[in-house]
Amino acid sequence: MSLCFDLNDLEDLTVYAKQIQDNVLEDILTLNANTEYLQRFLHGSSDRELFKKNVPVVSYDDIKPYIDRAVNGEPSHIISGKPITRFLLSSGTSGGKQKIFPVNSKYFEDMAFIFAQSASIISKHVKGVQQGKSMTFNFARAQFSTPSGLPISPAMSSYLMSEYFKNRSSNCYTSPDEVTLCPDSKQAMYCHLLCGLVQRDEVVSVGAVFASTLVGAITFLENNWKEMCTNIRSGHVSEWITDFTCRDVVTNIVGGPNSELADVIEEECRKESWKGIITRLWPKTKFIQSVVTGQMAQYIPILEFYSNKVPMISPLYASSETMFGVNMNPLCKPQDVSYIFMPNISYFEFLLADEGNKGEIVDLVDVKIGCCYEPLITNYFGLHRYKMGDILQVSGFYNNAPQFKFVCRKNSTLNVGVEVTTEEDILKALNHATELLKSSDLILMGFTCYADISKLPGHYVFYWELKSKTVNDIVKLDNKVMVECCCVLEESFNAFYRKLREREGSIGALEIRVVQQGTFNSLMEFFISKGASTSQYKSPICIKSSEALALLEDKVLARFFSDKSPPL
Ligand code: AMP
Repeated sequence: MSLCFDLNDLEDLTVYAKQIQDNVLEDILTLNANTEYLQRFLHGSSDRELFKKNVPVVSYDDIKPYIDRAVNGEPSHIISGKPITRFLLSSGTSGGKQKIFPVNSKYFEDMAFIFAQSASIISKHVKGVQQGKSMTFNFARAQFSTPSGLPISPAMSSYLMSEYFKNRSSNCYTSPDEVTLCPDSKQAMYCHLLCGLVQRDEVVSVGAVFASTLVGAITFLENNWKEMCTNIRSGHVSEWITDFTCRDVVTNIVGGPNSELADVIEEECRKESWKGIITRLWPKTKFIQSVVTGQMAQYIPILEFYSNKVPMISPLYASSETMFGVNMNPLCKPQDVSYIFMPNISYFEFLLADEGNKGEIVDLVDVKIGCCYEPLITNYFGLHRYKMGDILQVSGFYNNAPQFKFVCRKNSTLNVGVEVTTEEDILKALNHATELLKSSDLILMGFTCYADISKLPGHYVFYWELKSKTVNDIVKLDNKVMVECCCVLEESFNAFYRKLREREGSIGALEIRVVQQGTFNSLMEFFISKGASTSQYKSPICIKSSEALALLEDKVLARFFSDKSPPL
């Protein structure tokens, strides 16, 4: 019996998750059975059982030679039954190196689908979203061509430049497309904020793909509000906005001199503290929309500070490899966010990632609540059983579709010896340490860390950018508090770390290096200069690049060490 589902209906998608996944795999295999890659394992067959038996689980390095050949102009059918029409560049700041993935228009269809699903869920939970505008910090960077002449750019940029964005059904943004598409991200940021300020009474939400971009936007505002007020007062956009298409539309939106508005904005920005600045400048803000899970969780306290704790909605989970799913319960606490996987996008399998796992792989509908898995992606464009490197934990089911909490990136770990400190361990420890800052005047604006093994014993180094909660106040570092922060970080690490630290000589005292203000902005600019995209940038939890480390070292203001071994 063949079943008819409505693939736009969340109920159908989740009730028939298994059948839909089976159909997706069948489609992919029928389409790709004769690619050079699958021929090696399936000899032209599109049998699902044979696929599971013969096709190996792979990492990026295994398929890179095929992707490189396609990038260099060999025909798509090396890896994909349907023509590849562009390549996506992953941000590379979380996992270390940038990767390239082949796609075609289906990828953007999926993206538009996920955005639409997420928007419809949000509008069910928050009243009046459609009656206002969203100030969203989206950026598209210039695209390059591969040797074969196909475009290559980050996923979000590619989407923003595509017909799917251009022809979207509703326009709910304060920024015109000319701003979003401006290739100069500084000019784009200035114009996004200027447009948002001018339309402040219409703004019901403030967003960016990732929370780090939103924090970057507020910092940019702190440095540029005076100039923006001058522009609003005079009705004249600053001369350094030289992107003419952008300048023209923004001038139109500014719409002539408005000293009354400039006065109101100035009054708010001049106040001693920027606590609640988002809701003070945009008083109708109902929520912030931005990913705040995974490595973005570090920005929750600073966003709460800036927004007077309006709800933070972490809408969806996606990557350059595929879209995954949406958050069905958008108003839940950031710590409780789960994403439900959409079964109609790619074929998903799950490799058990719990300790002592024997390489067990299960289908989407067969994952077990509480277990941790690494997703294996089989998409329409040449990835087959691809280990994508994120670790997720099953938190529940909606109908037959599982919901996952994001746990961490698999390879983002610290170690100086045999201990392994995961991204999750680091974020938990950071949470405990920043609790200590709450009673002080300081707030953490950015952090990263690395394992310094240049001297023995090796030790963990955390770079912290701190800021005073009072505008323009100098950051006063209290030695006692900072040393205590070092100790709390160590106490929060796993037993293995604490044991090695205790045993003289294995791990040295943890160090916090406080860096100048603006350092994490410079770090972002550094990664963007290397090809990362402004929209997709995620500041790395663990730094591996020696160039990035040199940049950080240059900005160190003070160093603190833990003064005791953590209790076992
Ligand atoms: P990119 O391919 O550059 O877009 O990066 C994709 C990666 O970003 C994913 O593999 C995750 O590690 C991370 N990511 C994307 N969405 C989320 C989310 N909602 N929560 C946590 N991490 C995310």
